[in-house]
Amino acid sequence: MRNIIVRSVTGNSDEAWSDWRWQMRNRISTLDGLKRWINVSTSESDAIQQLKEIYRWSITPYYASLMDPDDPNCPIRLQAVPSLEETIVPDSANIDPVGDQYFRKTNRVVHKYPDRVIFLVTSVCPVYCRHCTRKFHTTTVGPESYFEQGEATSWDEDIAYIESHPQIRDVLLTGGDPLMYSNDRLAKLLEKLRAINHVEIIRIGSRFPVLAPQRITDELCEMLASFHPVWLNTHFNHPKEVTEEAAAACDRLLRAGVPVGNQTVLLKGVNNSPDVMRQLMLALVKIRVRPYYLYHCDNVVGVSHFMTSLKEGQAIYESLQGHITGFAVPQYVLTTELGKNPVMPYEYVKQGDIEGEWHIRNFRGQTGIYLE
Ligand SMILES: *Cc1c(COP(=O)(O)O)cnc(C)c1O
Repeated sequence: MRNIIVRSVTGNSDEAWSDWRWQMRNRISTLDGLKRWINVSTSESDAIQQLKEIYRWSITPYYASLMDPDDPNCPIRLQAVPSLEETIVPDSANIDPVGDQYFRKTNRVVHKYPDRVIFLVTSVCPVYCRHCTRKFHTTTVGPESYFEQGEATSWDEDIAYIESHPQIRDVLLTGGDPLMYSNDRLAKLLEKLRAINHVEIIRIGSRFPVLAPQRITDELCEMLASFHPVWLNTHFNHPKEVTEEAAAACDRLLRAGVPVGNQTVLLKGVNNSPDVMRQLMLALVKIRVRPYYLYHCDNVVGVSHFMTSLKEGQAIYESLQGHITGFAVPQYVLTTELGKNPVMPYEYVKQGDIEGEWHIRNFRGQTGIYLE
């Protein structure tokens, strides 16, 4: 099925399919376009009509090819196709629950932790994830993006901020997706950052390995390697996303010496099951991608329908910890304006009544006492 559609949209050209620019030019963002890939449900087509003026959407042909054409609850569809639930906004929801705006020091730099910053390279993405934590910045239609002065502005002010703060040793390029930049433009930015002595490591947050792995070309990897140490974190949320193409993209990065980590968001309907989460983490370590964070879903306007309870997240965390390879277990964190707060169950270790006495518990629920 997938191959038949792929052949029809590419005119039977493997070359087109494996060219990331072709993937970008042929992104799906109309109802008719989407109908070539899936049997669009009434509710999906209503959402596409009704949300037109509110949230943008766009899906690469590659990511569309992973969708189940007949199942509206397909985890790939839930992440990429607009949903009427995006209009349901509880009072507790916020456009910026993580406080990026509060900690934003320049147009692009958010400085929340002492030694590291995030750098908002762009507000555009290959696919607009419905659960985006910066939905206000990326997906919301209209002029009120984070970028007061638009993306075309220079980086001078942002670079100057980093230059004048010697405690910043780690710069994380995010967005939007930084790999939306051409290699040349990205190289210019990396050059400016590398020219700052106190910037020790550069990190890139990109979902391209999942959404259009064709973007991870040898040229890109070679360019990144010339700015080492460069790390990359990507965003796999479901084992279906761990395809041969995605694995090959991660392999290219790894061979270029770029360690690849993964940040999963806990999403109702997509991966809120111990079984799916375990399959995902095991699939990632098989392709040498290291699980880093499991994010509790933020209560962002337009995203609340994806939220689970912390209890559910903790149960999923417990189904991993101790049961599978230690480094296949991500840290479960809740992001607020306080930062990324670990929210793993505290039962693993509790102080006893006597000084120096600790009550510990293992993954099987067996308890013990440790005396200091
Ligand atoms: C997530 C984040 C970072 C990086 O945090 P790590 O825990 O080091 O991965 C830095 N700054 C901001 C504002 C962030 O949201």
